[in-house]
Amino acid sequence: MNGRRCRICGNETGNEIIIARERQLGLGDVFEYIECSNCKCIQLKDIPSNMDKYYPPEYYAFDEPRFPSKLNRFNFFLKKSLINHYMGYFNPPGFLLSFIFDHPFPWIRKREINFNSKILDIGTGAGRKLLSLQRSGFRNLTGIDPYISSDLIYEKGLKILKKDISEIDDKYDFITLHHSFEHMPDPQHVIKHLSRLLNPEGVIVIRIPVGDCHAWHKYREFWVGLDAPRHFFLHTAKSIEILLSGTDLKTDEIVFDSGPLQFIRSEKYMRGLTMSAPDDIFTLEELKRYRDESEMLNRSKQGDMACFFIKKKSEPNN
Ligand SMILES: [Zn+2]
Repeated sequence: MNGRRCRICGNETGNEIIIARERQLGLGDVFEYIECSNCKCIQLKDIPSNMDKYYPPEYYAFDEPRFPSKLNRFNFFLKKSLINHYMGYFNPPGFLLSFIFDHPFPWIRKREINFNSKILDIGTGAGRKLLSLQRSGFRNLTGIDPYISSDLIYEKGLKILKKDISEIDDKYDFITLHHSFEHMPDPQHVIKHLSRLLNPEGVIVIRIPVGDCHAWHKYREFWVGLDAPRHFFLHTAKSIEILLSGTDLKTDEIVFDSGPLQFIRSEKYMRGLTMSAPDDIFTLEELKRYRDESEMLNRSKQGDMACFFIKKKSEPNN
């Protein structure tokens, strides 16, 4: 068995080994990654049998959610109007508000879902994102995460279940994975079940850091997106395509949504600092340049994070 075989496309030749260290917590443990010469997916070579050490209790994903503040009736109405506008349903208050406020959930596209859509969030942690959706008017929300200590039941029926994707049976209109897919050891298993859980007209949103991007080529083992050993796979458009081939799913659109942290945090790692070191080591000009460059990279599809919109192949009108 070739230890350098790509676990996505099977390619065994020309794959490069990269030595990386755990840097987010400052542990410094050493790990080997492989970059596939064919699909460009970067992957952790040997997944540790016990990852507990790398997800300490204070790890942000499992924090008790800071509750998004409850809105009074009027503000709730305004927020719903704004979101309705961005979901493609015209209403005068939402239209006017959109001149002042950005889309609070830019990964929700026009005419795709509404407040009654059945939404599943996978790898949801304590459910902060779902709570935020619930407090914005969405009514039908479920989250799953096998690593929470027990089920969490919030107000108005919002449930976070301690379950693996294979233990869920319902069908959903909208399935989201917000920076959780890269932490999962068996992407083929996840894709197979996503296809099973999706309604024929539904949409899957996978938001992940991506390989073969500008920040990866610039910073290599210091790139913050690598996050050894928590990120098992850094996919590319090509490796996602390969994962979906042989299923009834296809990529509908890829939107790059990287930000200045790709520079700020990677620069800190290069200088031997931890992620939480203060930003005052950068000048205001540098910070502005990082923001501008991130926007430019997103436009040229070279940002280090992307949002994959995935649908069923057999969808009518396509
Ligand atoms: Zn590959």
